[in-house]
Amino acid sequence: MGTTLSLVVPSGPLTLGNLLGAIRNWSGEQRGPETLYGVADLHALTLEHDPAAVRRLTMEQVALLIAAGLDPDRCTIFVQSQVPLHCELHWLLEATAYDGELRRMIQFKEKSAKQASVRSALLAYPVLMAADILLYGVDAVPVGEDQRQHLELARDLAIRFNSRYGETFVVPRAVTPAVGARVMDLQDPETKMSKSAALAAPGVIRLLDPPDVVRRKITRATTDNGTDVVYDPATKPGVSNLLSIIAACTDTRPEEIATGIGSYRQLKECCADAVLSVLTPLRQRYATIAADPGYLAGVLRHGAELAASLGSPTLARAKAAIGLVPA
Ligand code: ATP
Ligand code: MG
Repeated sequence: MGTTLSLVVPSGPLTLGNLLGAIRNWSGEQRGPETLYGVADLHALTLEHDPAAVRRLTMEQVALLIAAGLDPDRCTIFVQSQVPLHCELHWLLEATAYDGELRRMIQFKEKSAKQASVRSALLAYPVLMAADILLYGVDAVPVGEDQRQHLELARDLAIRFNSRYGETFVVPRAVTPAVGARVMDLQDPETKMSKSAALAAPGVIRLLDPPDVVRRKITRATTDNGTDVVYDPATKPGVSNLLSIIAACTDTRPEEIATGIGSYRQLKECCADAVLSVLTPLRQRYATIAADPGYLAGVLRHGAELAASLGSPTLARAKAAIGLVPA
C-alpha cells in the first residue's frame, strides 16, 4: 500500500455517519506518516460560510479525529490550509484545467443552481481536490459515488499535465472504500445522514450531542409500517437503518440483531444504548484533548511539517516542469 489520504470538510459538526462510515476505518489503517488524515478547511469556503464556525469546526474535527483513534505517532494529521503547498499546486492545476470541464461537474451544477451568486471557488473546488491528491502521489483513492466524477477530473489533469510537461504526477485511480456502515438520516431513512444538514436537524446524530439528545433523536426516529423488526432496507428503511447502526456499533450483523428484538420500542432502546456505548468514551477522550490547545497545536505543527516534506518533491517537480523554476 502506498500513500493514502482522507480529509473531512468542516461543513458542519461531525456525525455518527462520518464516524461509522469513515473515521473508524481510518484508525485501523495507520501505517506511518504516509497515511495522511486531516481537515480540508479550504473546501469549506466554496459556499456562503461563517468564518468563526469554520475555525471552530476545524479544531473540533481535528480533536475528534484523535479521540476516534487517529494517533499522531502512527499517521500524519494536518489541516489543509496549514500546508501552503496545496494552494501552490492548485494554481498550477488551474492552469491545466479547462473551464468547460469544470462547468460539467454534476456537483457544481447542482450546488450552483441553488444559489443566486456562485463563488468561483465552487467551480475551482475539484481542482483543489485534485491538488490534494496529486501532491502526495496518492495512487488509490477511496471515493463514494458523489466524488467519482471529481476523481476522474484529477486523473485527467494528471494525465494532461504529464503528457504536456513530462512525467510529474502519479495518476490516481478510484477504489471502492472499505465497507463501513452507510448511516441514513433518522427522520428520512432514504437520505444519507450529512454533517452539512441544518444544525438542529432532528435526524442527524452529532458526535458531540449530549447523551439525552442522542437518546431523544433515536426515540423519535422514523420507523416503518407494521411491527416486525426485520432487516430489509428496501421495504423497512427506518428499522433497517437502526439495525445497521446497532450492528456497526457492536460489530455484529444487522440480521443477527433483528432476531433478538421484539418491538420498535425495544429496537430504539437497544440502538440508543449501542450508540452511547461508542459515543460516551469518544466524548470523554474529546474533552481531554480539547482541554489542551497546546497539544493540538503541536500535533498540527508536526503534521503540517510532515505533510510539507512529503509533498514538496512533487511540487518542485511540477514547478520545474511547467516553467517556473529551472528544471
Ligand atoms: P457534507 O454534508 O458536507 O457532504 P458529509 O457528512 O457527507 O458532509 P463528507 O465530508 O462528505 O461528509 O465525507 C466524509 C467521510 O464520511 C466520507 O468518507 C464519507 O463517505 C463518509 N460519510 C459521510 N456521510 C456518511 C454516512 N451517512 N454514512 C457513512 N459514511 C458517511
Ligand atoms: Mg458528503
